[in-house]
Amino acid sequence: MATADAVKASGFSILRGGAFKPRTSPYSFQGMAIEGLRLLAEAREKTGLKIVTEVMSEADVQDVAAYADILQIGARTMHTFRLLERVAETGKPVLLKRGFHATIKEWLLAAEYILKIGNPNVILCERGIRSFDGEFARNVLDLTAIQIAKKESHLPVIADPSHGTGVREFVVPMARAAIAAGADGLIIESHPNPAEALSDGPQSIPTAEIPDLAKEMQTIAAAVGRTL
Ligand code: PEP
Ligand code: MN
Repeated sequence: MATADAVKASGFSILRGGAFKPRTSPYSFQGMAIEGLRLLAEAREKTGLKIVTEVMSEADVQDVAAYADILQIGARTMHTFRLLERVAETGKPVLLKRGFHATIKEWLLAAEYILKIGNPNVILCERGIRSFDGEFARNVLDLTAIQIAKKESHLPVIADPSHGTGVREFVVPMARAAIAAGADGLIIESHPNPAEALSDGPQSIPTAEIPDLAKEMQTIAAAVGRTL
């Protein structure tokens, strides 16, 4: 709720939170499932923000669609084509993250699985790809992919510098770069006290920094002749 309030107060329009979490380790916090969806819906009631949250499996599509405004497909399931079709059938907008091993063509074709069902509302999200050097950053945020996806499709393209770098101090610089490179929006992970986050604390920015981030993104956009 603290994050939702900060997001709203800074003029952002959508709150992203994970209820079904695709964690690398089965021993890590797995999310709050339906209870998490209820909390997200409560945050929507309180703030008026739209809610985006991930759906990991076909079995959960109806539950997630009952609470969320936008359904997220994560990097790990971008290739799960039957899931893409079931999500498309809900008629809700879909936020499609690029798989970390997916080529741009594979990502665009994954979007086609949703469009082909007759759901035109797909948002593409570049979230970083795996490369040979994972020593200093978790992934390589592929800024060129933003331009290519915009050239090759008519869909909005956003960037996720949080998963794209995995390192808090790199998130804002790469957010700036993504907006300058043409991204239509950003996903930023935030927590009131990142040291206490149950997921991805090292790449989360403190909630207190959200207002400055919002202002700065407007400045960057204006510098390249765009408005967000
Ligand atoms: C997320 O956005 O919560 C997430 C798990 O990201 P990704 O699927 O890109 O790893
Ligand atoms: Mn995360």
